[in-house]
Amino acid sequence: MTKSFQSIKGTKDLLPPETTRWRTVESVTHDFMGRWGYKEIRTPVFEQTELFARSVGEESDIVSKQMYTFSDQSKNSLTLKPELTAPVMRAYIQHDLARTGALTKLYYIDSLFRQERPQAGRLRQFHQYGVEAIGSPYPEQDAEVIALAYKLLQKLGVDNLTLYLSSIGSKECRDRYCQLLVDYLAPYHDKLSQTSQKRLKTNPLRILDTKDPEEQDILQKAPHLLDHLENDDRIHYESVKRHLTDLNIPFIQAHSLVRGLDYYSRTTFEITHPRLGAQNALCGGGRYDRLIEELGGKPTPAVGFAAGIERILMAMEKIEVIAEDTPTGVYIVAACDAARPIIVELAVDLRDAGITADFDTIRRSLKSQMREANRLNCAYAVFIGEDELRKNCVQVKNLTTTGKQVEVKTNNLVNYLQNPD
Ligand code: AMP
Repeated sequence: MTKSFQSIKGTKDLLPPETTRWRTVESVTHDFMGRWGYKEIRTPVFEQTELFARSVGEESDIVSKQMYTFSDQSKNSLTLKPELTAPVMRAYIQHDLARTGALTKLYYIDSLFRQERPQAGRLRQFHQYGVEAIGSPYPEQDAEVIALAYKLLQKLGVDNLTLYLSSIGSKECRDRYCQLLVDYLAPYHDKLSQTSQKRLKTNPLRILDTKDPEEQDILQKAPHLLDHLENDDRIHYESVKRHLTDLNIPFIQAHSLVRGLDYYSRTTFEITHPRLGAQNALCGGGRYDRLIEELGGKPTPAVGFAAGIERILMAMEKIEVIAEDTPTGVYIVAACDAARPIIVELAVDLRDAGITADFDTIRRSLKSQMREANRLNCAYAVFIGEDELRKNCVQVKNLTTTGKQVEVKTNNLVNYLQNPD
């Protein structure tokens, strides 16, 4: 037997009607972002590997073990994008988007690729929407981005959100804090996992992310980064909190929210949902004031977030699915063989006039065609039999409300369907 194929582990086919739910999320997102003043950006599916190494950081999980990296025929090292901030910043610098205004607000809806161990809510190709607000160092911009993340989830019908908020300060205060953390952990060195022992040297902040209960115990009494912020960082953080309170957006202060990526500074946040189990993060983001400079641009502050669409769909309780599933369509039924060529033309004429129309191409019986009209949830069935062919008319049956059937002249059908009785 010929071999059949399976999708790659950690990737997913989106089949109808699931695609309709996706389109709803996408169209609500486009609409929402527009109202908040964000413009869409789309970047290529792969980039130079170095872009991610330099921005996300060599020590991060993403760069050290999750990237899909390959050489093209010219031996360039390329990587399928494992996150979207670096490509957006690369595009911002490359096209000098700063010239279009002192504040640039961009959003995206896109696919990402990470070689993680697949499980519920964790895929190897997945999708995110997100924003990047570039140009403002001020706390009102952080608050706007966090409010957008929170309110868009609510708009999508995701309730029971928990927003965790923190600040990791500037690089200088973080470096100082890292030393405090390393000193605190020194007596526990042998009790730490190998990963954490390695992180003590490479990226001590990441130890705070540990899921190991024994390490979490050890960390109970560790110094808190929030207690070691510089004055300016603390004022910024207090102001973000005040804005969120004024906006009635509830948050929990999280001491260990360091985020996996290296380029953050000051504000970090995450939104979780209880329905998602172990992979409960819907959305994560924060401020990254040095990233653009590190990628070769002029120093420009920025803040943003990314939200995982697969997880949002898992958490979504109610969503009004757009038009598609509500009965609007017309099913054209051939009640005799002589009508079969006519229904093709009629369907195309109706579609040209903007009416959703379908018909049978596998020559089914009258009864099966009617069953199909109901299965497709059509609002009307249009019949053509021998009588109708002779009289140049059709029978139009209302399938949803009245069940009424009327005779309509064929050349008046579009008009009738646009203004039914
Ligand atoms: P990150 O880019 O890691 O900050 O992730 C932002 C959001 O993307 C997370 O909160 C998740 O909702 C989603 N996400 C991250 N990794 C995955 C994955 N492997 N599969 C599905 N969703 C993911």
